[in-house]
Amino acid sequence: GMSTCLEGLKEAHGRPWPKELIALGPEESAQQMVLRRIQELSDSDQQDPFMLADLDILASRHQAFCQALPQVSPFYAVKCNSSPWVLRVLAALGTGFDCASQVELEQVLGLGVAPSRIIYANPCKPASHIRYAARHGVQLLTFDSEEELTKVAQHHPGARLLLRLRTQDSQSIFPLSTKFGASLEACGHLLTSARDLGLAVVGASFHVGSNCQTPQSFTQAIADCRCVFEMGRGAGHDMSCLDIGGGFPGTEDSGPKFEEMARVISAALAQDFPEERGVKVIAEPGRFYMESVCTAAVNIIAKKAVLEPGGSRKLMYYLNDGHYGSFRLGHREPVPRVPIVVKEFCSEPPLFPCTLYGPTCDASDRLFLEDVRLPELDVGDWLVFPSMGAYTSSMSCSFNGFLPATICYTMGPQLRCLGVGVEEEAGNLTLI
Ligand code: PLP
Repeated sequence: GMSTCLEGLKEAHGRPWPKELIALGPEESAQQMVLRRIQELSDSDQQDPFMLADLDILASRHQAFCQALPQVSPFYAVKCNSSPWVLRVLAALGTGFDCASQVELEQVLGLGVAPSRIIYANPCKPASHIRYAARHGVQLLTFDSEEELTKVAQHHPGARLLLRLRTQDSQSIFPLSTKFGASLEACGHLLTSARDLGLAVVGASFHVGSNCQTPQSFTQAIADCRCVFEMGRGAGHDMSCLDIGGGFPGTEDSGPKFEEMARVISAALAQDFPEERGVKVIAEPGRFYMESVCTAAVNIIAKKAVLEPGGSRKLMYYLNDGHYGSFRLGHREPVPRVPIVVKEFCSEPPLFPCTLYGPTCDASDRLFLEDVRLPELDVGDWLVFPSMGAYTSSMSCSFNGFLPATICYTMGPQLRCLGVGVEEEAGNLTLI
């Protein structure tokens, strides 16, 4: 049952595949299972935070991506959520992988994924990680500076490089272009420098910023890449790969719809990279694949009520997961998430402004910068946050000794439909 599956879930290093993979009941959603688990826990003293990852949703997201953008090959961004079962399922489904470091490369190569299915998409890499990529046959690398070219020439002369372009991403919830990307004006020089160093540039890449709010950012970036392709060919490079990065929405709650974004991207690709040119188009989706996969359950461990100057009541809840755990990006989300309250009320309860604090001794350890409106709750009550799969477990640490939430994985008919099943052999679960 679920109680055993959550025991000992702390993912020990060197234990590659957690065995805690469970099948959902026929009519049960992951969210229902979380609620059932909370009910089971109510009589115990086990109140640690946990996450449930529904691998069936992951499979559906992959299908949705491929359906909307059939001309684009997804290279899943491992940084978004590097849980072993997530990577396993994606490897079985046949995606490629975007890795940001040696450890991520090791993780993906360790699954038996061919190095040709990996892009090392960090424009500023440590030399030792570049050497690791070279030793293991990972050839596709991104760069955005002269200095990176010098390093690659020294440590990985056989690399196939994508020039990362700066984008107009100020509208994204998480912009990236202040840190990464060459300006269009700088590209000509970088392309000739690469040639002079004997390096092969094979295309261009960009990232419109995570959770992009303006699909037109893709149109502009794709048009810019077309210029880079022309410059590259002019400099003697064989330009054959376009990488449109990530930035796709994780849920449909707010912001542009994925289908709308896919239409804009398809139109831009048809315009600037028509299929008959034979350019391979790849993407690095993270949030789109993972956000809706995980549901987080957190417990109220302490509570204070205060009277505001005007006499109104305000509540402070202290939770056992927070900014140093699954809610690292909460400070940067435009509106706070409102959790599902796991408590029965006789009638519609009054709502109070509530500050949600995490468990550490850091005063800035709060889930969101703004208060949320919730009913009066008690120590021991549970809050459930859906859509917590993107940039949550992969960003959590053990500050103050609070361990990252344990993750339990479920799979069901969707994965089996796609031909992914599970087999147990000598105590190890493997996907078949
Ligand atoms: N690729 C690169 C280079 C990134 O930096 C990121 C996110 O930071 C991603 C892909 C994934 O982006 P998203 O989760 O918005 O799809």
